[in-house]
Amino acid sequence: MTHTTQTTCPYCGVGCGVVATREGDKITVSGDKTHPSNYGRLCSKGAALAETLSLDGRLLQPEIRGQQTDWETALNTTASALNDIIEKYGRSAIGFYVSGQLLTEDYYVANKLMKGYIGTANIDSNSRLCMASSVAGHKRAFGSDTVPVDYSDLEQADLVVIVGSNMAWCHPVLFQRLSAARQQHNDKLKIVVIDPRRTATCDIADLHLPIKTGSDVILFNGLLHHLRAHDHLDYRFIEQSTQGFASALQIAKETAGSIPTIAQACDIPENDLIEFYRLFARTEKVVTLYSQGVNQSSSGTDKVNSIINCHLATGRIGRVGMGPFSITGQPNAMGGREVGALANQLAAHLEFEPEYQAIVQNYWQSPTIAPQAGLKAVDMFEAIQQGDIKAIWIMATNPIVSLPDANKIKTALANCELVIVSDCVRNNDTVPYAHILLPAQTWGEKDGTVTNSERRISRQRAFLTAPVEAKPDWWIISQIAQRMGYRHGFNYQSPADIFREYAGLSGVENNGRRDFDISIFSQLTDETYQTFTPYQWAPRSTLQLASDTHHRPRFFAEGRFYTPSGKANFIPVRPIAPKSDTSTSYPFILNTGRIRDQWHTMTRTGKTPRLLSHLSEPFVEIHPDDAQAFNIKENELVCLDSGLQQQIIVRAKFSEGQKRGYLFAPMHWNEQFSAQARVGTLIAPHTDPYSGQPEFKHTPVALYPY
Ligand code: SF4
Repeated sequence: MTHTTQTTCPYCGVGCGVVATREGDKITVSGDKTHPSNYGRLCSKGAALAETLSLDGRLLQPEIRGQQTDWETALNTTASALNDIIEKYGRSAIGFYVSGQLLTEDYYVANKLMKGYIGTANIDSNSRLCMASSVAGHKRAFGSDTVPVDYSDLEQADLVVIVGSNMAWCHPVLFQRLSAARQQHNDKLKIVVIDPRRTATCDIADLHLPIKTGSDVILFNGLLHHLRAHDHLDYRFIEQSTQGFASALQIAKETAGSIPTIAQACDIPENDLIEFYRLFARTEKVVTLYSQGVNQSSSGTDKVNSIINCHLATGRIGRVGMGPFSITGQPNAMGGREVGALANQLAAHLEFEPEYQAIVQNYWQSPTIAPQAGLKAVDMFEAIQQGDIKAIWIMATNPIVSLPDANKIKTALANCELVIVSDCVRNNDTVPYAHILLPAQTWGEKDGTVTNSERRISRQRAFLTAPVEAKPDWWIISQIAQRMGYRHGFNYQSPADIFREYAGLSGVENNGRRDFDISIFSQLTDETYQTFTPYQWAPRSTLQLASDTHHRPRFFAEGRFYTPSGKANFIPVRPIAPKSDTSTSYPFILNTGRIRDQWHTMTRTGKTPRLLSHLSEPFVEIHPDDAQAFNIKENELVCLDSGLQQQIIVRAKFSEGQKRGYLFAPMHWNEQFSAQARVGTLIAPHTDPYSGQPEFKHTPVALYPY
């Protein structure tokens, strides 16, 4: 007998729909042709999902200090250990580090426990490493964290500017859609890639600008000035729908300078710069898509606003085929933003303001409410190191590989009084540091919702029988909350219960200053939750309970934003150099990122030989001329050293696409696969002052033969 289940891929923020088909013991996974984000397409990772379902490497039993135990004991011990820490050191001695791999329902319950019951906002997500600068940039410009572009806009644009994104590898299905649109439009659609590296994404580009890392603000300030100088501004839109234009333009003019100055500052040919400015100026339908190359920077928020400024100045927002478009890295980074499971958000797009704190506490009927924003990811682990946080609960993430200064994370966890890890895998580098291990269900076993980069909420559905001791994250959190003494806020029977409550919270009155409202789902029945079809959330004023439609109302279509005045803010931005510069000791700039066939720290994708065969070992890419100058042979082992505690050893690969003076190393390898290739150990914990996002794209390093 054949049984099919519609669910979504657990990897990137494209959020593709997939169909899992079970025939006897055999399971296959294919693209869901009815899902409006991918229409049946899959990339190599999605297509290999069925090969990752074995129980190898799974965490299958609760453990306390290395001893297997039963759930009752594990839950009671965790609850009383957390209560003991609170009693001894206070609420702010607790931290939760959560993940864009969690489902929205898991996120919601974790956030509620922390902010409404424990009473601190020391909960942050690994999404801090991914898109926090975009969130901060959106809020500064729009007064809300609103993504105003859909995937279909890429297909309807006449110019797509891709900044700091190798979407061919990191968001492959979106890249497939863009490539198909380009073919269909007979090359009328122009594509510009702005990236220090010549990546696979450049294969479909008309123009590639290999800018210096950190020069994005100069480039876009220069564009703003160019648009003004050549009369390409939309003064009506500027006047009616924005504020702060004059000062943003003034700063842009002062800081960018002439074309030769900008070209020199960005280290790109003048003619290419002029061509980019001309293309942008003369094309009405422009989407500027950006990702980690913009966000992962000590000035990421300013970079985001320099892009948004150009769209506001031309009125190219809120209409078909145009707008600034931040794409998220993780499958449910957006769900975490919606829930508010970030240290500087309260809940459901409500901020830390007394009025909203009262609203949320009243809605939750909770004993307390977090009084102010909490510690962001890098600061949270620093607080563990300093002994200010005594207990950390890490859910579905592997900070020993993924956070900056990753060896310091080891030391911090080794010295922490209580480390709780709930995860589906045992082969996670963080697991050995846990005092309490709680086995969670994984993809294919758990039920809930996720939101992708175009604000589309989809269901993840179980199609496997979970191992008997693996539990849903929301259940684990709720059980511990109840055992901590919070009996009334966590009596959920299913993820549908949580989704209804969360949807209701999104609709509470807030003087119209919030973009996010899915309260139409607050009365959803269990049956409708089961059959939930992908739903893209739209402006609050246009709520409708509808299955997906291509004609949903757009954000900002009427030129109204979520600021108190209703006008979008231009943000004057000055270029700021990356925190560290190269020197004779550290002459290369290391850029880090993803490769095509691996995901995060490889705990799932590393299971399939097919995916491992693409790039089977950790490496560093170097321009052949740099290699020659530094006496590096192709394929030899080399050391990378940034002056932090540990060097890494990887294989040298030559690439003409690498900018001179730059290196690229993938972020994926954990210690299970390669003992000395954790790139995170090289990255200094410099962060953006607004978003707290670390600077992963610019680390001065030394390189020498091993
Ligand atoms: Fe999964 Fe992303 Fe590939 Fe789609 S593009 S199949 S969501 S990894």
